Amino acid sequence: MEEHKVKIKRIEKVTHDVKRFIVDKPEGYSFISGQATEVAVSKKGWEDERRPFTFTSLNEDPHLEFTIKIYDDHGGVTHQLGLLEPGDELLLHDVWGAIRYKGPGVFIAGGAGVTPFISILRMLAKQGKISGNRLLFSNKTSKDIILREEFQKILGAGFVNTLTREDHPGHVSRRINKNFLKEKISDFSQHFYVCGPQSFVEDISSSLKQLGADPDSVVFEE
Ligand SMILES: Cc1cc2nc3c(=O)[nH]c(=O)nc-3n(C[C@H](O)[C@H](O)[C@H](O)COP(=O)(O)OP(=O)(O)OC[C@H]3O[C@@H](n4cnc5c(N)ncnc54)[C@H](O)[C@@H]3O)c2cc1C
Repeated sequence: MEEHKVKIKRIEKVTHDVKRFIVDKPEGYSFISGQATEVAVSKKGWEDERRPFTFTSLNEDPHLEFTIKIYDDHGGVTHQLGLLEPGDELLLHDVWGAIRYKGPGVFIAGGAGVTPFISILRMLAKQGKISGNRLLFSNKTSKDIILREEFQKILGAGFVNTLTREDHPGHVSRRINKNFLKEKISDFSQHFYVCGPQSFVEDISSSLKQLGADPDSVVFEE
């Protein structure tokens, strides 16, 4: 099992409860957009508390970036991460993860589940290959939307926000369910990428299959 101790270079606020951590990239460390690693806080008592987080940078970037939702309602790892400052250290482990880009399609994310799509969409934008891709992004309220301006810039009309607990101008106030998918998607033979809370992934994958999506074309974290 690999373990890399890396220094945090910068920490930035993304939303009210999401932070971006820019950290040193270990020599020879390599990943595919969509993949994750287990991260621990390099502080006494926390070194063995590993949690999975997705790389939101690109492999070719000189640093690593994580975009992390901090849960302050209990004393877990993300609460500890929220207390860190530049100069503090993280422990990174092996690279893994099932989500990877297979071709143009519809990305469907719930909340912080959007993180594997950040790196993939940034990669496609950089390579000029964003055409044919869309993002349906479900959040509780408008203040929870991660990287709204960046997704808008990358995807334009291909970026659709839905809010489940707020009516807000310019946003659809709906849950992403079978009817929503039927209305928004005309071609179920394309690729689908689904990430979010377990029940979200199960419901959406099942709806997509009922609507005619090929199970092999629906990509999600096992
Ligand atoms: C492959 C993969 C990649 C991931 N990538 C990212 C990423 O890039 N960014 C990101 O933000 N997240 C990501 N996650 C999710 C992330 O791993 C979890 O949010 C993290 O493990 C939570 O750690 P924790 O110790 O703070 O919470 P844990 O203690 O592990 O609790 C996890 C969940 O339980 C709830 N919970 C547990 N105990 C309590 C309590 N007492 N009171 C209230 N709620 C409680 C929390 O709300 C939280 O939803 C990823 C998950 C996977 C599987």
